Amino acid sequence: MGRATTVSDVLSRLEKHYGPQAPSWPTDPYEFLVWWHCGYPASDAACAKGWERLNQAVGTAPERLLKASPAKLAAALKAGGMVPELRAERLKEIARRVQDELAGDLRAALAVPVAQARRLLKKFPGIADPGADRILLFGGVTPVAAVPSNGTQVLVRILFGQERENYGVNYRQAQESIEAETPRTLEARQRAYLLLKRHGQDICKRAKPRCEQCPVNQSCAYFAGHRRGVTPRRQSG
Ligand code: SF4
Repeated sequence: MGRATTVSDVLSRLEKHYGPQAPSWPTDPYEFLVWWHCGYPASDAACAKGWERLNQAVGTAPERLLKASPAKLAAALKAGGMVPELRAERLKEIARRVQDELAGDLRAALAVPVAQARRLLKKFPGIADPGADRILLFGGVTPVAAVPSNGTQVLVRILFGQERENYGVNYRQAQESIEAETPRTLEARQRAYLLLKRHGQDICKRAKPRCEQCPVNQSCAYFAGHRRGVTPRRQSG
């Protein structure tokens, strides 16, 4: 069955609706790892609060994090939400690994083939494929087709209909669509990520998308009622 739209067209319409988007988190690979543990449950708002307090109280460089007492780190991280003691331990682990194993320079260590860079990033606490892709893309390491973790459903719904239950399947399908239909440049892939993130956050939410107010509803397979992927025998996971 032919599709009603293309990724390029979807992105143009989302940009017209939301305006150009910019990342609201630190894009340096090491700083992103630290930022990610500044909030829990991790969200842009929670991480931003913890990050700000951490910068004021301690700083974020590996040597600063290693020198600070666990109690001081936890007190700063409390601004970002729950389990600050555990997050303080993780920050120390990140700092230790970057300093001892990577000579203090994560960015330089990522200048290797992409599969190897991804493996290296996934050794850090709390980083799976979506986080690794996000770091590689926004850190300017390589233009991978990263998909925002809150927006894996967006492209799948628009292009194919009902998304699957399985997060990993949606992630891969959205990734393949971006890979096939956007230029392989940092700028194009970052733009796609940011617009899909914003749309998944504001309108095409995972639960109860607000389709009536959606700027792309006229070419969305989900909205048109083309259901696909969810069958009586749903996949698990
Ligand atoms: S019409 Fe609904 S499902 Fe389709 S993109 Fe918009 S909000 Fe998402």
